[in-house]
Amino acid sequence: IADPVIFGIYHPFLNNIGQMVATVLENRIHALLLTDSNAKLQHLVTQLEHLVAERTREISEALGKLEESERRLQVFIENAPVAIAMFDKGMHYMAASQRWLENYGLLGRPIIGLSHYEVSPDVPDLWREYHCRGLSGEPQEAMEDRFERSDGRIQWVRWSIKPWHDQNGQVGGIVLFTEDMTELRKTQESLLMASMIYSNTGEAMLVVNQKNEIVAVNPAFTTITGYGESEVLGRNPSVLSSGKQDKAFYQRMWEQLNATGTWRGEVVNRRKSGELYAEELMINTIFKKDGSVHRRVALFMDITEKRKREDLIWRQANFDMLTGLPNRHHLAEVAGREMMNAQRSQESLALLFVDLDRFKDVNDTLGHGAGDELLVEVTRRLKQCLRETDVVARLGGDEFVVILTQIRNTSAIDRLAESMLQSLSRPYTLNADKEQVYVTASMGIAVYPHDSSHYEELMSFADQAMYAAKDLGRNRFHYFTPALQAATQERLHLISDLNGALAAGQLQVYFQPIVELPTGRTRKAEALLRWNHPKRGMVSPDVFIPLAEESGLITSIGEWVFQQSLHWAARWNTQTAGGFQVSVNKSPIQLHERDNAEDRWPEALRLHGLEGHNLTVEITEGVLARFDAQTVHKLSKFRSAGIEVSLDDFGTGYSSLAYLKKFPIDYLKIDQSFVRGILTNDSDMALCEAMVVMAHKLGLKVIAEGIETPDHLYTMKRMGCDYGQGFLFARPMPAEAMDDWLKSQSS
Ligand code: C2E
Ligand code: MG
Ligand code: MG
Repeated sequence: IADPVIFGIYHPFLNNIGQMVATVLENRIHALLLTDSNAKLQHLVTQLEHLVAERTREISEALGKLEESERRLQVFIENAPVAIAMFDKGMHYMAASQRWLENYGLLGRPIIGLSHYEVSPDVPDLWREYHCRGLSGEPQEAMEDRFERSDGRIQWVRWSIKPWHDQNGQVGGIVLFTEDMTELRKTQESLLMASMIYSNTGEAMLVVNQKNEIVAVNPAFTTITGYGESEVLGRNPSVLSSGKQDKAFYQRMWEQLNATGTWRGEVVNRRKSGELYAEELMINTIFKKDGSVHRRVALFMDITEKRKREDLIWRQANFDMLTGLPNRHHLAEVAGREMMNAQRSQESLALLFVDLDRFKDVNDTLGHGAGDELLVEVTRRLKQCLRETDVVARLGGDEFVVILTQIRNTSAIDRLAESMLQSLSRPYTLNADKEQVYVTASMGIAVYPHDSSHYEELMSFADQAMYAAKDLGRNRFHYFTPALQAATQERLHLISDLNGALAAGQLQVYFQPIVELPTGRTRKAEALLRWNHPKRGMVSPDVFIPLAEESGLITSIGEWVFQQSLHWAARWNTQTAGGFQVSVNKSPIQLHERDNAEDRWPEALRLHGLEGHNLTVEITEGVLARFDAQTVHKLSKFRSAGIEVSLDDFGTGYSSLAYLKKFPIDYLKIDQSFVRGILTNDSDMALCEAMVVMAHKLGLKVIAEGIETPDHLYTMKRMGCDYGQGFLFARPMPAEAMDDWLKSQSS
């Protein structure tokens, strides 16, 4: 019907049949009518006219329909929500969608009928090739294709080329479809990433809807809380609640969430197993367009271990691990707080410095394990004596500090200090073998704000007072006094002066004869140190020797005394034909140090032409009290070199027979306080006699110190004492004077 209709009338006499058939064929005539009657012809013509009219109407109707459908197609294409264009065989635009025009910058340009390549000259060769293939009937498509645009931007495109066919089944052209996937791809990538993070992160996620019902949780949530997804979906997050936060806490949280949409903080929650855990929680809100809540997303991390570690670090930094008491560092903080409280309430506060007496002996003889046990027990007893508000801290070693709070009068301090002393002095049962140990403590007390309102100063005052308690015989407490402070200052000055004394030639060695009582001969002398202070005059060794010990200066000073003694011993030894002996005092500190006098001195003696028996080392009982293998070893070395050992000031310390048996000793020096007492005090007399007898039993010789009167001499001699030393014979004197004295004796 779309083809043109041609019809005509042929007169049989005008044309031959052959020509007519050719015409019919040529004109693609479908029907052929042969007739000889005009009437019939007329009829036929009328009929044909009808037919033609009808056909014409049909054609124009069909054409109208075609136009309509073409127009519809165009409209359809134009409005398609994708980029689509239809081309004919020559790649001329037949139709293009609005989106196409937009995408390719063709809006407003009349392009229908124009060649695609004219319109867009920059179409890449590859595309042209795709078009060709499409035009040859091969449909093509790609889901995602990467294109680099002329401006360098990378574009991801989904496209298809579909050939279209005419009614003869021939390819009439192609339909091109393209879609920019770049944005979509980005969104997909970030979605993918988000979901990967969601399921792989160690941070737990929990999503609730506006009704606060859980709608999603991730695997980390399950790991941390122990709840599987199915167990919590639809439930309220309060299933995790531990009760450790009060109502007010949650109220504040919700207030902030409602106001700002976010909340951040730390919460203690409970796992399914019932175990508590700490979490660092962050809540964010996703709002709907109308501003109402769509979802709330909670992210949290388990910080229990972190907290524990932090707590441990804090504990280690602030507490003593053995006793659990605050350490020196933490004490400063606690004391500061207590002082502020006291100030506010107009009360006093006592700071007690507690130092165990002879703790070192326990450590040395029973081992550190026992020492630790003792410290733990001391802690327990101290706490037991104190009130809830008081503080105990351990400074280290055997030093403790107690802070007594809310003090209104000193009698309260006295009472508490006394009860602590008593409690600490009770016997301690240590070690698996149930060893009983007796330990006492000395305490120094400084009062806030009476003595000072500064922590450091209070500590130093209490420390000084503690030393005063020790000096007074230990196992007691002593209050700080300004006089103590003055004494301490004085000591510090003296120590600093002593530092330069040796170099400044202020030190001098005096000698005091030791007389053989039965014969009256002098074959021994004791070297006694003197300090001629430029301002203070003669300072007693009883004052400065302890300072030298405390400051460590004793080592060099002691060595110097020895060298001086050697010099004179050599001289007097020659004068007395080889029988002279000089006594040198040796401080306990010297024997405990790594100072190896026992190795060096025998050689030094030899260099001066002396032998071992020309020297005596005087030690005090204190040395023996700290029984240790090292001391015995050192003393034995002296003795194996022929050097003799004297036990000085016997009777003032522990006076234990056990020591005398254990240690290698040659002489016992009875302290002058006994000698002084023999004439007036019966018990001193008895003691002296006992000492002499006992010493002789042990094979020791006895030297009586402090013989001041002929009566002293007579009595000691009668007791059988071997040697005497004292003002009756001579006071300690400079070496030159001693030299003269010896000469006068021998003449
Ligand atoms: P010490 O070893 O017991 O010395 C004897 C002390 O008694 C000396 O006191 C001496 O002067 C004194 N003395 C002697 N005879 C009498 C007397 O008849 N009556 C009285 N009242 N006292 C008498 P000094 O010289 O003051 O020495 C005191 C202490 O200082 C010594 O006691 C000794 O322990 C120590 N010392 C002295 N020189 C040294 C030294 O070089 N090194 C060490 N480590 N200590 C020393
Ligand atoms: Mg002495
Ligand atoms: Mg003495």
